[in-house]
Amino acid sequence: MTVDIGLLWDEETITGELLGGHAVQCRTDCCRYLNLAHTTGRFTARAATSPREGRFALRLGEMFSPPSAEQVLAPLSESRRNLDLDVLEAGKRWEFGGGAYDNRVWWPIVKCGSRADAESLAAELREQPHVDPLAITVVRLDDTEPSAQFEFTLGDFSARVLEVRAVPLARDTIFRLNDVPIGRGFHWQRKEALDYRGVLSLFSSAGGLTAVNRLPLETYLKSTVGSEMRSDLPAAFSQAQAICARSTVLATANRHHRADGFDLCNDDHCQCYQGIQREAGAVAEPVRATAGQILLFGERVVDARYAKACGGLSERYEAVWGGEGPAYFAVRPCGDFAASDLASEDGARLFLESAPPSWCNPALHPYPDPWDKEPLFRWQFRFAPEKLGTLIEEKTGSAGGRVKELRPLRRGASGRILVLDVVGSERTLRVYGELNIRRALSPSHLPSSFFVSDLRADEILLTGGGWGHGVGLCQLGACAMAKAGTSTETILARYYPESAVVTA
Ligand SMILES: [Zn+2]
Ligand SMILES: [Zn+2]
Repeated sequence: MTVDIGLLWDEETITGELLGGHAVQCRTDCCRYLNLAHTTGRFTARAATSPREGRFALRLGEMFSPPSAEQVLAPLSESRRNLDLDVLEAGKRWEFGGGAYDNRVWWPIVKCGSRADAESLAAELREQPHVDPLAITVVRLDDTEPSAQFEFTLGDFSARVLEVRAVPLARDTIFRLNDVPIGRGFHWQRKEALDYRGVLSLFSSAGGLTAVNRLPLETYLKSTVGSEMRSDLPAAFSQAQAICARSTVLATANRHHRADGFDLCNDDHCQCYQGIQREAGAVAEPVRATAGQILLFGERVVDARYAKACGGLSERYEAVWGGEGPAYFAVRPCGDFAASDLASEDGARLFLESAPPSWCNPALHPYPDPWDKEPLFRWQFRFAPEKLGTLIEEKTGSAGGRVKELRPLRRGASGRILVLDVVGSERTLRVYGELNIRRALSPSHLPSSFFVSDLRADEILLTGGGWGHGVGLCQLGACAMAKAGTSTETILARYYPESAVVTA
């Protein structure tokens, strides 16, 4: 089984190198191909036309059946008759091992035209009753067929083409891509030249040029597990991580990048995949040891989300992404203790000030290097109210003046704030979604949206817990469990209750 991983997209120029011999096939129009055998050398792909903006829509959730998607649209079709509503299918059916799997979901959407139109309608709909404000996402609608010609140069060959496929001719044949971003949209974003195995495809679509890598699932996983985590961690943990990564591919392919022409991207958004540089021997071992193993919940492969440190309790899927959340993302303590109601202000504060015997509490289970250097379980940040106002304006584009209060309107079961009012000296600004809250309140990125705030004479103090969205497996908690001798199956059963590890 192979997967298509997006390495670059929406680019004007893509450069790289073919190393070790490739058969290169260039499609020049609907039925003409140019074949170049045994090719090596540097290449450049340059878009011939400037990118079009494309068509956009608002997605109001991801649902498990067409009727439940229709149900989301029903109140809007009555109250807002001028909206262009539709239901789209995303995901796909897979053959894997001896079985067939189906990860399809149905999107209730509102067609909008430009991205700006979609964003202004999103702001309006978030305030409407019967619409889940956390589920609203702007999505691109374009089809993924190669649509425009681009300039392709390889050594002394140069042509205008619609699509290029470079197929490796030997086992150790690789290709290199320059300037591949890592950590898109995060403060740690950087660009690297990375090497890959498998087939390289280049094509041009609405947003610009795209580079896609097609390779066997197990080869991809060797790099992914290494890109997400280190190679010197307990085997039971690395094996749990390998099973999660394999399940994530089967559960999310053609969902997050439905209009982009590939199954998953190569970054934090889907799963980090940084090519052969991350395939250390010790990392390949957990992938080999769990070959073909996936997590199943009923008939569906588990969308095995994970985050660095939950902070005490795991979060529900729908609290973070809205829509219809799978039942295996139950709210559970990350350890054997009873937790109070963290959705309330008092409950959240009490829990943050306590030291629960959580698997991700480093006072009880010290973190491995390099995470032991960072405060991930409990943390504090201080801001001057004036400066926080300026920062929020920079990050969100909306000015509210000096910050007088941070008022949570809704918290999830893990204590994460889902809707926050920033009360300013000039006006109140409402921020929806844990990720937007984390981005708005920090020059880089707050560790999580699980925090309480205290206004003192000249500062606002944030006291918080956890790193990441908190849905699914807690990586540092699972690592501590593995170190204490817990098996891979028991670790997975804690974070994805009622699911089972099966060999496909
Ligand atoms: Zn992605
Ligand atoms: Zn945890």
